[in-house]
Amino acid sequence: MAERIELTFLGTGSAIPTRRRNHPAMLLKYKTENILIDCGEGTQRQFRKASLNPCKITKILITHWHGDHTFGLPGILNTLRLNGYNRKLEIYGPRGSKEWVRKYFDLVGKRGEDLDVVVKEVGDGVVFNEKEYFVEARKMNHDCPAVAYSFVVREKSRLDREKLKKLKIPNSPLVGKLAEGKVVEIDGKKVDGKKLLYREASRKVAFVMDTRVNENTVKLAKGADLLVCESTYSKEESEEFLGKRAHLSSVEAAGIAKKAKVKGLALVHLSQRYEGIPKVILGEAKKVFGKVIIPEDLDKVVL
Ligand SMILES: [Zn+2]
Ligand SMILES: [Zn+2]
Repeated sequence: MAERIELTFLGTGSAIPTRRRNHPAMLLKYKTENILIDCGEGTQRQFRKASLNPCKITKILITHWHGDHTFGLPGILNTLRLNGYNRKLEIYGPRGSKEWVRKYFDLVGKRGEDLDVVVKEVGDGVVFNEKEYFVEARKMNHDCPAVAYSFVVREKSRLDREKLKKLKIPNSPLVGKLAEGKVVEIDGKKVDGKKLLYREASRKVAFVMDTRVNENTVKLAKGADLLVCESTYSKEESEEFLGKRAHLSSVEAAGIAKKAKVKGLALVHLSQRYEGIPKVILGEAKKVFGKVIIPEDLDKVVL
């Protein structure tokens, strides 16, 4: 069985919070990794409501430094400090992030120095790389330096446990050799590990937050299992603000999903105007791309 990728939508609103939608924040859990994507005001409260522990955060990916995506950071840093957070906290963000983190630490005060934080400014490319998974960033087109991210679990080969059982192969270090595809001798019989392996497909979740339409969105989201994408405007409003806006509309977000051939689309960063009528956005997007949802705060998706 593949390890689960769990995504919790902590905040699905945009610049102004509503009763139902807090500012942008999402938590992606995979094995020991707990990656927070954006951290709008009140995000630490959303953690509590979702019964999640901010002290388990391993990395924070900031898409850009507009307040609706980052005002929750000083609060969460303060809580981590009070709770004796003892990991190295990695914060990733676009050009200028080091200066922004410094300003936010000034708000936390001198005691913020207790925390071991490393800030990495990213552009186009892989931003961190582990054996089984990696995160890639691409530059976006907004009113300030901005990036989008994708989290990718690599394709891998796994041992078929059922086949092992049928061959009555006992648990021993030899099983590890089989998992590497090697031939081993068990009870005088040669067993070829390659014949016991199967391929587990790679998985990808892409996060496109505030941006104008640009080619990098499609490149980043290509083939994703899930694209989480901002959809601030309806089609009609989008035409009204044409040329003035730095955001995507429902149909633009759906167009990116279609072009990138993703398997599913989740629309977030909804304007407060759609508090009671997200169906307007949903209906418009559906005409372009069928597999679309509009998650509510604290909704969870498992991949
Ligand atoms: Zn925003
Ligand atoms: Zn913004």
